Amino acid sequence: MLMHPNTGRSYPSPVPPGSGWPGDPATSRTPVATDAANVAALAYAATSIAELDAAISVCRACPRLVTWREDVALVKRRAFADQPYWGRPVPGWGSERPRLLIVGLAPAAHGANRTGRMFTGDRSGDQLYAALHRAGLVNQPTSVDAADGLCTRDIRIAAPVRCAPPANAPTPAERDTCAPWLDAEWRLVAPHVRVVVALGGFAWQIALRLTGGTGKPKFGHGVVAELPSGVRLLGCYHPSQQNMFTGRLTPAMLDEVFRDAKKLAGIK
Ligand code: SF4
Repeated sequence: MLMHPNTGRSYPSPVPPGSGWPGDPATSRTPVATDAANVAALAYAATSIAELDAAISVCRACPRLVTWREDVALVKRRAFADQPYWGRPVPGWGSERPRLLIVGLAPAAHGANRTGRMFTGDRSGDQLYAALHRAGLVNQPTSVDAADGLCTRDIRIAAPVRCAPPANAPTPAERDTCAPWLDAEWRLVAPHVRVVVALGGFAWQIALRLTGGTGKPKFGHGVVAELPSGVRLLGCYHPSQQNMFTGRLTPAMLDEVFRDAKKLAGIK
């Protein structure tokens, strides 16, 4: 058992559902998906974001990813060796009635897989949440753990794959198995969403499929697609350490995307 860096409570790694981890949506009775058919059935049956988040957070349908996320939670990285790791799938974070949906890729092994919250506790998240704060879309510029007080009224952040994959590369079969979770999330939030921001080319393809687009236009940073559903899709390079380090993506470029997204979504 190790102590959570913020709350002072102790947990095993990975964290058992319903053991009091901040923001844990599940309990020990939450149904567990153990294969692709289970994922599809539970996702289809979810009638609320709370129910969906809980089911996602205990999913065990991809054996390779379950092993990887739990191994990482046991072995850890030296800088976090004194912390418990979440070590479970990461549900979407933010408003249940968002006007702006941000679609990423997959949790980072020592970021969201450690903290249990999307983009929290890694370099990509440092850049993303700082930009969201500059745009007035979240209440604070940092996102370090699931008890740090971060909140939003207008946005939601989701991913097409919910478990940290080895080498940041889920297999096509794992992506397909996980897809019904995001489909269900979209079904539940779509009535409120005006704008989707896709972080990278893969997220762009996923977002086009979700929102009824045709595969065109192609992804590019700053590209805006007006979709038949009335939703606007904005492309943004992923705020990965590599993109930020090489200058392919700068804080100013992120600011421009979120300024446009906020305006298009009608967020004051
Ligand atoms: S990647 Fe998705 S489907 Fe696979 S185990 Fe994780 S949450 Fe379940």
